[in-house]
Amino acid sequence: MHVLITGGAGFLGSHLVDRFLKDGHSVVAMDNLITGSTDKFAHLSGHDRFTFIKHNVINYIYLQEDLDAVLHFASPASPKDYLEHPIHTLKVGSLGTLNALGIAKAKNARFLLASTSEVYGDPQVNPQPEDYWGHVNPIGPRGVYDEAKRFAEAMTMAYHRYHGLETRIVRIFNTYGPRMRLNDGRVVPNFIHQALNNRPITIYGDGSQTRSFQYFSDLVEGVCRLLMSNESRPVNIGNPNEMTISDFADAVLEVAHSDSKIIHMEPTDDRIIDDPKMRRPDISFAREVLGWEPEVSLADGLAMTIEYFRKRVR
Ligand code: UDP
Repeated sequence: MHVLITGGAGFLGSHLVDRFLKDGHSVVAMDNLITGSTDKFAHLSGHDRFTFIKHNVINYIYLQEDLDAVLHFASPASPKDYLEHPIHTLKVGSLGTLNALGIAKAKNARFLLASTSEVYGDPQVNPQPEDYWGHVNPIGPRGVYDEAKRFAEAMTMAYHRYHGLETRIVRIFNTYGPRMRLNDGRVVPNFIHQALNNRPITIYGDGSQTRSFQYFSDLVEGVCRLLMSNESRPVNIGNPNEMTISDFADAVLEVAHSDSKIIHMEPTDDRIIDDPKMRRPDISFAREVLGWEPEVSLADGLAMTIEYFRKRVR
């Protein structure tokens, strides 16, 4: 297959680049490098099935070659990043999705949208199944990401229904692993960075809010299975192992063998506004239609991630 991956220089995009190359496909990675970095391709220098194009997908996408699949992963995804780039986040989820759908249609390629558990907002149902419509504040600071992704899902389904385009939608729950940016502001790099430097672990609020963390390789496998499936309805891909942020802090301290103290704080920016109080994927549908479930435990995933960060922290 010839595959285009938008956001290919990002955390998940770059892991997908590696997976598709490993499976023998040709890959074009496209990224405007706002939050991505070409460092993630250092090991691919000279690879004859890999091309990188620096391009902002909110502008028209032109490619001469044929494509079999378009994976649309371009977007800031960390609350810190999308609060710093609110208008760009709205544009990449709307105009960027339109352009990515447009090139998929022009090339008669299959389209896969990277959506998110944020479409459920601050959910009032736990765990979240795909048929839950969510609880989103459209005008809150997180609305720029949540509503852009909800629009992107609506646009994807419109191309599917109106144009008959083969489309897939993956709703990605919190995912971590090597190649996350140390300073992306999310809880996994923050806590690991702090633990490795013996600095205080910064829990926002009382730490009773929950998340469910999946290792990146489980997500990559789920995305590949979804792309090759016949399922056009959204599919949750995440690890149902739900825990409080306080328990997550303890897990990081234990795996990192760190003596960092834990402090509770309120961030000075808007990122804690509408912070979801609970989040856990219902993965029954992924099990049923993809035969997929996560394989990497939190202890193993954290150990591999901490190993990666240890080489980069000082
Ligand atoms: N969080 C925290 N300390 C940090 C960073 C994040 O307590 O240094 C909390 C944050 O308030 C949220 C959870 O960890 O409840 C996950 O935040 P993250 O930014 O990783 O992503 P989200 O799941 O909110 O998109």
